[in-house]
Amino acid sequence: MIGKVYVEKEVIKHPRTQSILKRLNKEQDFIVIDRWGEIFNRKNQNFRLQKKYLPLILARKLNNFVLPLPISHKREAEGYYFSPVLNCLFDCKYCFLQGMFNSAAIVIFVNYEDFASKIKIVIENTSRKTLFSASYDNDALALEHITEMASFFVKKFEELPSNTTLELRTKSAQIKKLLNISPPKNSVISFSLSPERVYRKLEKGTANVTKRLNAIKKLQLAGWRVAITLDPIIYYAGWEQDYKQLVDTIVREISMEKLDYVNVGILRFPKPFFKKIKKLYPTEPFLSFPPSLDEYISYPSNITKRMLSSIQTMLRPISRLTTVYLNC
Ligand code: SF4
Repeated sequence: MIGKVYVEKEVIKHPRTQSILKRLNKEQDFIVIDRWGEIFNRKNQNFRLQKKYLPLILARKLNNFVLPLPISHKREAEGYYFSPVLNCLFDCKYCFLQGMFNSAAIVIFVNYEDFASKIKIVIENTSRKTLFSASYDNDALALEHITEMASFFVKKFEELPSNTTLELRTKSAQIKKLLNISPPKNSVISFSLSPERVYRKLEKGTANVTKRLNAIKKLQLAGWRVAITLDPIIYYAGWEQDYKQLVDTIVREISMEKLDYVNVGILRFPKPFFKKIKKLYPTEPFLSFPPSLDEYISYPSNITKRMLSSIQTMLRPISRLTTVYLNC
């Protein structure tokens, strides 16, 4: 639920600020601030408490519009991300944003046009294929009814060369606004899917698996490019049966020929983020990992290898028809 709304003085009159305030029914009910960081970066904020009544900040982004994707996300294309929205309406226990930010407040940078201009410059300076993720710091569709972020960038990417892809990852089923747009060539909606048990235990607030599958089917039917993300894959007693069941359902329910690609990754956390997340859930069994000197915290290598091999076998009916990327 959205709690207090803060608006930077400089963007109060911005048309996008005004439409967002209207959609939130908060046109007269917001707190004026100088810069978003004074709220977002305050010390000693309680992430868990904020998740109940999410503060929302409307601001202007001034720099670092487009950044390279970390190595674990790289494919054959040059990978970048841009974040007009920080943080998420949902509350997945494994979300690494909890380790990355001091605050659960949602920040919307209303100057989308400036992001679009910088993306264009990046593309003009390379001859390689490019992939831009708009969901590294958020869920790309969870707040679409308020932000219209995905709709804006999907349309912008249609003006760019065809070797450019926009990837929007989501665990929501908010596709209503997208279905009003003609299916784009340069954008892919990538739905993260998890077994029912993982959804129920760890993915609070997200759309259930059936709703996500229905959203995929509707988009495919309308001619949209759709991908699937199986990341993070989580290890627990019975994980193999649960993921096998999920893959079988995907194969049965979704048109594999029309699937753009599948992303696969085993649960992992950058070390500094993991320490913060562990403090939020000290007794949570799925966060029990052996001590490690690596940059990323994950399962011991013998378990990871076993998981990868098993998931590759499960995905054979899919990998015959579309590309499977392993992000490990
Ligand atoms: S949907 Fe993604 S961004 Fe949102 S809480 Fe879950 S993991 Fe985090």
